[in-house]
Amino acid sequence: MDISFAGKRALVTGAGKGIGRATALALARCGAKVTAVTRSQADLHSLLQECASITPVCVDLADWGATEAALQDVGPIDLLVNNAAFATLQPFLEVTPDKFDQSFDVNVKAVLHVSQMVVRGMMARGSGGSIVNVSSQASQRALREHTVYCASKAALDMLTKVMALELGPHQIRVNSVNPTVVMTDMGRLGWSDPEKSKTMMSRIPLGRFAEVDDVVNSILFLLSDQSSMTSGVSLPVDGGFLAC
Ligand code: NDP
Repeated sequence: MDISFAGKRALVTGAGKGIGRATALALARCGAKVTAVTRSQADLHSLLQECASITPVCVDLADWGATEAALQDVGPIDLLVNNAAFATLQPFLEVTPDKFDQSFDVNVKAVLHVSQMVVRGMMARGSGGSIVNVSSQASQRALREHTVYCASKAALDMLTKVMALELGPHQIRVNSVNPTVVMTDMGRLGWSDPEKSKTMMSRIPLGRFAEVDDVVNSILFLLSDQSSMTSGVSLPVDGGFLAC
């Protein structure tokens, strides 16, 4: 499948590492003008060394006011990837309010906020657009020690659906991708323990974790006109995990 984003402007959050970084680079390779948003300046510096055409924005998305200020001059955006997220491992009885707030601030509230800012411009231009929220298989299956992460991703799936409902009449599509484990920094946090990873992998019919590119390819598909009649879906990228 040949996808071109020539002439499109894309914004990717959490673009410093992992899936977000690979998505930003892939979008640029496909011709999009990419704005990369993340909170570590060093990651933005190395990203720009890899791809000089990317526009960097350094901000902590958990901070509503700072995000407002950082993105106010970002210009028109056609394609938005809400990818940044925070993950922490806490058993249910040990969940603390700070980790709860940090998770929901980044995984849900920042998605709402960044989308509001971008969508206002899409609506004003009447140009439509496509938004992909990076959710997780954890939105739909209970995972031990993932209380807050699972809850935040479940909220994100429903946010995706309501956005699709309200924004559809403006020709703005909103979907999520829901990957299984990917061995990024975040993936290693939860699944480096061989016992845990063996148990998880045994529940994946294809018998492997996802690669970063598996997720990036699904994001590009949902952003592109190849999926022009698809909105409000949560697309598993999970080797069949959610089917079982
Ligand atoms: P990584 O930890 O590799 O990268 C996350 C990126 O998001 C980093 O660049 C990080 O910056 C940035 N980020 C996090 N918090 C903020 C914030 N408050 N403000 C700005 N930037 C922020 O994660 P992945 O690539 O693995 O995850 C990407 C997405 O995929 C997430 O939504 C995650 O929930 C989802 N996912 C991941 C899975 C996995 O197994 N890896 C499985 C299923 C879903 P910094 O490093 O500076 O904090």
